[in-house]
Amino acid sequence: MKDIIQIEHLTFDYVRENEEGREIVHAIKDVSLNIEEGSFTAIIGRNGSGKSTLAKNLNGLLLPTSGKILVNGWDTADESHIWDIRQTAGMVFQNPDNQLVASIVEDDVAFGPENLGVPPEEIRSRVDQVLKSVDMYSFRTKAPHLLSGGQKQRVAIAGVLAMQPRCIIFDEPTAMLDPQGREEVMAIIRRLHEEGKTVILITHFMDEAAQADRIVIMDDGKILADGSPGEVFTDEKTLRRIRLDVPLAVDMAHKLRERGIDVPHDIITQEKLVEFICQYK
Ligand code: ADP
Ligand code: MG
Repeated sequence: MKDIIQIEHLTFDYVRENEEGREIVHAIKDVSLNIEEGSFTAIIGRNGSGKSTLAKNLNGLLLPTSGKILVNGWDTADESHIWDIRQTAGMVFQNPDNQLVASIVEDDVAFGPENLGVPPEEIRSRVDQVLKSVDMYSFRTKAPHLLSGGQKQRVAIAGVLAMQPRCIIFDEPTAMLDPQGREEVMAIIRRLHEEGKTVILITHFMDEAAQADRIVIMDDGKILADGSPGEVFTDEKTLRRIRLDVPLAVDMAHKLRERGIDVPHDIITQEKLVEFICQYK
């Protein structure tokens, strides 16, 4: 599969003005990374490690200080393709309240395609289809502020889906949700991946990261590790260094191995561990 996103030597600096003058924050330091079309990549790392800055660079919300990013071959710094880029790589943020713009659910979902100049009949069918796909169709005439956090986030996802992006970047989409809302949003993310979308999921929940095909660890604006969940989660030294927990299933597998049960190293999700243990019934 081809790479839908190519990050070449990305450096990003914020300039903060304060009483003492200008302060420069080096948020991303010479990062190179390619994302294959159709893949599911999780990005993890401590607060302030540069994950959100990286995400916002992926669809041109921020532009590189140096280096470049290509989305479907288009340079994000090339203004003539900014709408192609935003349409190809959609973004879902942590707080759905900041993403919902209209006072009725279906109007909110229609907002993106309207801005893209999609014909009204086509908008109508897209809105219905995406609201059904996130199981929010029955709420289509409701006001977003009356919904739960998880429902709002599903509407925000529908709004992005209505633009028919090939890639969706989720920046801690479940951080503000209760366990049920989290699981509903993760189920949608998994399904989008299964349907062929490229998914980039920034998360601080290791059980969520474990569901990806690939995990990238960011630390201090750089990539510290990049591999399959099995590789990354068994690299305990690296995980300890940046004080990230391992997923529950990895921790349990480790303890079972200490007791002499030979759990394969690629078991990193709870479902897989349950399946493995059930063999012993
Ligand atoms: P993460 O998402 O991993 O928590 P961020 O990308 O938000 O990390 O932040 C990376 C670094 O950039 C941090 O040092 C943060 O304080 C700084 N930073 C983030 N946003 C801004 C901003 N708007 N202005 C100045 N510095 C910022
Ligand atoms: Mg962040």
